[in-house]
Amino acid sequence: MPRQLFVTTALPYANAPFHIGHIMEYTQADIWVRYQRMMGLAVDFVCADDTHGAPIMIAAEKAGKTPQQFVADIAAGRAQYMDGFHIGFDNWHSTDGPENHALARQIYIDLRDNPDGSLIEARTIAQFFDPQKNMFLPDRFIKGECPKCHAKDQYGDNCESCGAVYAPTDLINPYSALSGATPELRDSEHFFFKLSDPRCVAYLSQWTQDGKLQPEVANKVKEWFTVRTNPDGSTSDGLGDWDISRDAPYFGIEIPDAPGKYFYVWLDAPIGYLASLKNLLEKRGQDYERYMANPELEQYHFIGKDIVTFHTLFWPATLHFSGRKVPDNVFVHGFLTVNNGEKMSKSRGTGLDPLKYLRLGMNPEWLRYYLAAKLSARNEDIDFNADDFMARVNSDLIGKYINIASRAAGFLTKRFAGRLGVVSEDGAAMLHHLRSERPLIEQFYETREYAKALRQTMLLADRVNAYVDANKPWDLAKNPGQEARLQDVCTVCIKAFRILTCYLKPVLPALAQQVEKFLQIEPISFANITEPLRVGHAIGSYQHLMQRVDAKQLDALFEVPSADTGATASTQPTAANAASATHPGSQSADTGASNAVPKKTGLGQPSPGGEAIAPTISIDEFAKIDLRIARIVQCQAVAGSSKLLQLTLDAGEVDGVGQPMTRNVFSGIASAYQPEQLVGKLTVWVANLAPRKMKFGISEGMVLAASHADEKAQPGIYLLEPLAGAQPGMRVH
Ligand SMILES: [Zn+2]
Repeated sequence: MPRQLFVTTALPYANAPFHIGHIMEYTQADIWVRYQRMMGLAVDFVCADDTHGAPIMIAAEKAGKTPQQFVADIAAGRAQYMDGFHIGFDNWHSTDGPENHALARQIYIDLRDNPDGSLIEARTIAQFFDPQKNMFLPDRFIKGECPKCHAKDQYGDNCESCGAVYAPTDLINPYSALSGATPELRDSEHFFFKLSDPRCVAYLSQWTQDGKLQPEVANKVKEWFTVRTNPDGSTSDGLGDWDISRDAPYFGIEIPDAPGKYFYVWLDAPIGYLASLKNLLEKRGQDYERYMANPELEQYHFIGKDIVTFHTLFWPATLHFSGRKVPDNVFVHGFLTVNNGEKMSKSRGTGLDPLKYLRLGMNPEWLRYYLAAKLSARNEDIDFNADDFMARVNSDLIGKYINIASRAAGFLTKRFAGRLGVVSEDGAAMLHHLRSERPLIEQFYETREYAKALRQTMLLADRVNAYVDANKPWDLAKNPGQEARLQDVCTVCIKAFRILTCYLKPVLPALAQQVEKFLQIEPISFANITEPLRVGHAIGSYQHLMQRVDAKQLDALFEVPSADTGATASTQPTAANAASATHPGSQSADTGASNAVPKKTGLGQPSPGGEAIAPTISIDEFAKIDLRIARIVQCQAVAGSSKLLQLTLDAGEVDGVGQPMTRNVFSGIASAYQPEQLVGKLTVWVANLAPRKMKFGISEGMVLAASHADEKAQPGIYLLEPLAGAQPGMRVH
C-alpha cells in the first residue's frame, strides 16, 4: 500500500475573489502534491470556502442577497483560478456544507464532554451592542476617536493613524459602522476553549517543539507559552483561552444545547478541512471514519504566516482533546509582495491581478515557474518583480531548457524520421550525471526547497547546453560524413531533455504533458526516467513548447486601470487582511492565504543584499532617526546568550554635573566578533530608539551592522565604523 497523504491549503474567506497571495499558496501546495504523486504516493488534496461570520452576513445584506447566495456566487468564481493556474485540488467544498455542521458540533461535544474534564467554559463578557440593528458588533464594525492620538473614525481594534492597539471599549465617542447608532455595553454569555488548561499546555509544548515545525516557526511559537499580548496591548503569562462563540444574528453553525449561540471562526472554519475531505470521500463511496482511523495516514496543512498561532496551538489541541488525529505538520510560508513592496495606491489598486494575468494570455506556467524559483522551506516573504520574472522565464526556462529540445528535434525528424540513435560514451556519461542528481532534486521537492530544485535543474541544463555548443549539431549537419554523430548528439539532447522535464514536472505539469506527447512517451515520473529511451524510438515533430514573455504583457499587467473601473481595486487585498485571523479579537474570519501588497513595476535591481529595497520615505521621516557616532568603551559576552554582546558606548554625553555618561546596548553580533576586537572602536548607533527591556537588561539603543538577508547562504555580520576623524556624539546625516 502506498503512503496516504491528506493535504490542504488555508481556507479563504468567501467575501472576495482570490488575490495573488492565494495563488502563491495553492501553487506551493500543488507542486508538493504533484511531486508526491510522481513518487507513487496516494494524496487527497482539498480545500473549501470559509463562509461564515458577521462580515459575510453584513456584505450579503448590502448586496441584497442571502448569505447562502452570496457565498455561492463567490464559490462559482473559484474554478477559473484553479483551472487557469493548473492547481489540482481533488475537492473544493464549503464550510456551510452539512458535513461541516455535523463535524463542528460533534467536535464541540467531544471537547465539552472530555472524560478528563471539560475543555469548554461559559463566561459572561461585556460587548458593544447596536440597539438599532439589534446585534452585538464585531470590533471592525465599531468606530470612534482614537484614545491615543484622537484621530476620528478609527476601528475598534487599532488606530490606522498612529498604530495604537486597544479594546473597542477604549474608543472615544464610539459609533456603530452599520447604523451610526451609539453602541451600548451589554453582557452576553460566551463559550471559551480552555487553551490555558494544563493538559493543553503540556500537550502543545511537546507537539510544537518536537522538531517537526520549521525552526523559525517553532521558536516563535515557543514565545507564546511564556507571554502573550492582550487586545489592549498589555501582556499576560502563558496561553490564553479562546472565545469560540458569537450571538445571533449570525451566519454560522448553531452550538449544541445553546440556542442563539453560534461557533466563531475557530471552531468552524478549520473543521472545513475535514468536511471537504469527508465530502470527497463520500462522493467516491469511501468511508470517512475508516479513512481517518488509518494509523498510517499523514495530514499536512499549507498556511500563511498570519495564521500560525491558530494552526499550531488551537487546531492541534481541539483535534487531540476531541479524540481525533492531529496534523503531522503545518508548512508556513511568508507573504508575497509585488514589485518591491511599494505601497499600493488607493485609487489604482494595481497589483498582480491573477485573472488579468490569464486574460492577457500570459502562460500560467511562467508564474508557477517564477514562484517556485523564489520559494524555499523557510517562512519568509518573497517578492514578485516584473523584470526578474521576465529574466527568469526567458533566460532560464526558455533559454536554457526549452532550447535544448528545439535545437535537437528538428535534425532528428528531418534526417532520421524522428528515430533515436546510439549514444556514444561522452553523451552517456553526461546522461548518467543528469540521472545521478535525481535523489538530490527529489530531496529538494520533498523539503519544499523548490528554488534549490530549480537552480540545480538549471545547472544541469547549462551542462547540456555546453555539450551542444561543444558538439555543434548545426555544423555536423553540413558534413555528410557526420550523420551518425549528428544522430548521436541529438539523441543525447532529447534524452537529457526528458530527464530535465521530469525534474520540472511538479512545477510545469501542462508543459510536461506537451513534452510527453511530443516525445511519444508514457507519463514521466521520478521512477521511470532511469529507464532510457531505446534506440529506434521515434519522437513526434517538434511543436513550439513555450513563448517568451513579452515586456508589453508585463506593462499591460501592471497598467493603471482607468478611474471608472473600480473592479480591479475591489479585488485587491489590503494590508488589513494579512493578519486577520491571528488573534481572537479580530472579526475577520479569513483563515486564508497570505496578503499581497502590490507595487509598481519598472524597478531595476530586484534584491540587492538578498532583500527588496524598503518603501520610499521622506527626508522628514529619515530625520526622525537620530544616528550618532559612539565609541565602544567596553564589550563583553552575555551569559546565557550565544548571539548577544553587551556594549558600553561613550556617545559624547555628559550628565547634569558634567560627568561623562555611557549607554548600555545589546547587539546580536556575537557570531562575528570577539568582545576584545571591538573595545575602542567607533561605530554608528541609533540614539533615539525607545529603550527595550530584554531578558539580560535594558538596551538603550542599537548599533548598526550590515548583513545579507539570507544569513545561511551568505553568513557574516559587519559592524559599521566611520572614517578617521569622527568623534563620539557627532550626528550622522
Ligand atoms: Zn491613533
